[in-house]
Amino acid sequence: MRRSLVIIAIALLLVTVSACRMWAAVPGGFGGAEDPSPTPPPPTLAPTFTPQPTPTPEPTAAPTPTLGPPPNLVASYPIEGDTVVRAEFPLTLEFDRPLDRGSVEEGLRITPETAGAWEWPVDNVAVFRPEGGWTQQAYEVTVDGVRAVDGVPLGEGLALRFGTGGKGIPVPALMYHDVKELGPEANDVQRTWTVSPEGFAEQMAYLAREGWHTIYPAQFLAYAQEGQPLPPKPVMITIDDGYRSTYETVHPILMEAGLRAVLFVIPSHMGYSAYFDWEMTQELAEAGHEIGIHTLDHLALRGESAGVLDVQVGEAKRQIEEALGRPAEAFCYPFGSYDEATITALREHGYTTAFTLNGLPYQPADDPFRLNRLLVRYETTLEEFAELLP
Ligand SMILES: [Zn+2]
Repeated sequence: MRRSLVIIAIALLLVTVSACRMWAAVPGGFGGAEDPSPTPPPPTLAPTFTPQPTPTPEPTAAPTPTLGPPPNLVASYPIEGDTVVRAEFPLTLEFDRPLDRGSVEEGLRITPETAGAWEWPVDNVAVFRPEGGWTQQAYEVTVDGVRAVDGVPLGEGLALRFGTGGKGIPVPALMYHDVKELGPEANDVQRTWTVSPEGFAEQMAYLAREGWHTIYPAQFLAYAQEGQPLPPKPVMITIDDGYRSTYETVHPILMEAGLRAVLFVIPSHMGYSAYFDWEMTQELAEAGHEIGIHTLDHLALRGESAGVLDVQVGEAKRQIEEALGRPAEAFCYPFGSYDEATITALREHGYTTAFTLNGLPYQPADDPFRLNRLLVRYETTLEEFAELLP
């Protein structure tokens, strides 16, 4: 628009200039028709137009399209490395903004080649249902040319490897107890169940830096039992016993790193000086940590009677839920001690997950009352910590 105005203006100017010259030529033209006046150089553009501010905003409607940031995958089913995918759960890819559907449906490759149908429950979630379900031991999904609705390509490449019949779901659960300095006189037991504040802060910063996302046990359950997507690199941070250090030391470090934990508390210990109290429990829950249950009195449950289980499992849950005003469904076995009767009692009282001391970096797909946890010790170096993770 501006350019055509400029051209028109120049044309007008040239016409005017030639007209003036004609006029000027007239007086001396009588005797000098054979002597045309020398053509002056055409006016230069710059001085004519630069100083002219346009008083009204120009209606240069043609809006330059604003491009969004590169889209990214924010959650999926399966997650990278899941080797116990349920045959009937579809591949679900959730992005942080709407995608060009055609670019996904054409650009996504599944190896070995798998027939299936696409669904788009919303603009940023692509769902692929494999015909006949996932049957192979190993699959790989890659994408090429996938872009957002405005044409911006994916921010990071996407590759998912998953399969059936393997060891488990790579959602590690880290296990901590007390977080404090130990003197040189500390014994082996203390060094097993304690981590230094510096060590803990370093480990949490590592998780945040490496793109790990803390999830709640209920999210893990929804993934394993319903195929709900999880963020990439999901991890659970569990902290047992409700020590005062959880409130004073662990909580600020987690908030700083943008991580949340599952805190397994013991109602009968609440308020003793070594433990946090009900008010702190409330505050920790409001900050986004999940409050789980670690029996009423920190009792080993293997071989206990139904009556004892009712109190340790049922009464503890009732007290926590009353204090928090919300359901508490995650459990942790004190000393890792349990048997079938314990699990039956947990189910009857409405628990949905329970954590053991089994030190594996992945979880079973179909046994949420036997979740594994990785022990972090006082001496665990950052390198060793990184190697614990899947
Ligand atoms: Zn404990």
